[in-house]
Formats: sequence, structure tokens, C-alpha cells
Amino acid sequence: MKRNVRSCLASMTVLVAALLSTACETVQTTQSGVVGVERQQRMMISAQELDQAATKQYSELLAEQKKKNALNVNAAQVRRVRTIADRLIAQTGVFRADARSWKWEVNVLTADDVNAWCMPGGKIAVYSGLIEKLKITDDELAAVIGHEIAHALREHARERASEQAVAGSLISLGSAILGVGDLGQQGAQYAYMGLIGLPNSRSHETEADRIGVELAARAGYDPRAAITLWKKMGQAGGSAPPKLLSTHPSSEDRIRDLTDYSARVMPLYQQARR
Ligand SMILES: [Zn+2]
Repeated sequence: MKRNVRSCLASMTVLVAALLSTACETVQTTQSGVVGVERQQRMMISAQELDQAATKQYSELLAEQKKKNALNVNAAQVRRVRTIADRLIAQTGVFRADARSWKWEVNVLTADDVNAWCMPGGKIAVYSGLIEKLKITDDELAAVIGHEIAHALREHARERASEQAVAGSLISLGSAILGVGDLGQQGAQYAYMGLIGLPNSRSHETEADRIGVELAARAGYDPRAAITLWKKMGQAGGSAPPKLLSTHPSSEDRIRDLTDYSARVMPLYQQARR
């Protein structure tokens, strides 16, 4: 009896391990660029699955905002944000060739939140609170949008959702034999959570910072604005710290890294300005 249980558990372990390994792929989402971001990522959820979830969530959110009269209200603001985003998007091919053909969307939401994000597949939102409360410059806007675009290029949301799917599968290891269908369904659930709601890991932040300054420099925006941006963000705290800080923990290390990497891409900026 005891032996039966043990061998059953053992075969379940093998089965789940097999499921995980077939579902798991190791990828290099981006080229390294001048800033040299090189790290292989393990993915359990397909990019297609996540993009579909993002597209759906984004269009639902836009419809909601429109109903509240909070979508693209200020035409000058929208023009400004889209001009900057378009120049950054034009540079994404340096990191991954397919990004140029993504269905990019850029919208401004009227909300007090100091926030901005880019969902998988290039669905961008910038909150009016970020622009107004920080009295943000064009270079600083390029820094924050470039940073968010970098998260999407590196598919950090997919990576995070994959990690959670793995954790979730391992927890249920002893209690149930997972079917592939279940795993897929769970993956979709984690994909939603991973889109914009969870804090980024430090390594993801560092990668987005470095790729972000390179995108900005290549697009002709001063990469050093990333430093003033995060300093402003830190000071904007008070009783209600910026929403962006809750998903993008800032620190002295970050400022140091940004100082270093924005200096490295200065030649690209000077070239773009010429
Ligand atoms: Zn970030």
C-alpha cells in the first residue's frame, strides 16, 4: 500500500515534470543592443496567449475610460504623447525585428495617478497625472515610455506569468494530476495577473532601464532625463506615493545604474541629434 502511494507520487512527479518541460521554452526575446542586455528567459505561456489577453483587457479598459469621458480628452496632450511614443517605437527594431509590425496603440487616460504602462504586444497607456503632477519634460516622457516599451520588448509580463504558472503547478503536484488543458487554462489566468498588476523584479527593472535609455537616445531624446524622472518620482511621494513606484521600486542603485548607462548611450543621442 505504502509502496503504491510512493510509486504513484513518483510517477505523478515524472508526469508533471514532463508536462512542465514540454510546455517550457527557453528564449532570448531581444538583441542585446549597445547596453548589452543578455539573459535567457524560460517561458511556459505562449506569447500569442498573452497578447490575446492583453488585447482584450486593453480594449475593455479603453471602452470603460471612454464611457467616463476620460479617454484622450486633451488633444494637445495626446499629440505630444503619441509623437514621442512613435519616435521610440521606430527604434524598437534594434532590439527585436518583429516589434515594428506589432499593433501598437498609444492612449492618454485622464486620472490623477502618476502612472504609465505598456502591455504585451505594445498597448500603451499614459496617465494625465504623470504628465501634470511631475510637470514632465519631453525627454522625461520619452524615458518613462521607453522604459515601459522595454518591458514589453523583453516580454517581462510573460516571464512573470510563467513563473507563477510554474509555482501554481508545483503546489498542486501532490494533490492532483494536471491535464495539459488545465495547465493552459491556469496559464491564461496567470497571464491576466502578470499583465500590469504585479511589481517588477529588480532584474526586470534594470533591463527595462537600460533598454529604455538606449531607445530614448536613438530617438533623439536626452537619455539623462531618466535620472531626473525617477528623482522627481521619488519626491512626488508624500502621503500618496506615485502608483508607478508600487510596480517599479526605485532606489539609489537604480539612479547609479541609470547614470552609468545613460552616459554609455550619449554618442547615440548626439548622433540622432545631428
Ligand atoms: Zn519598470
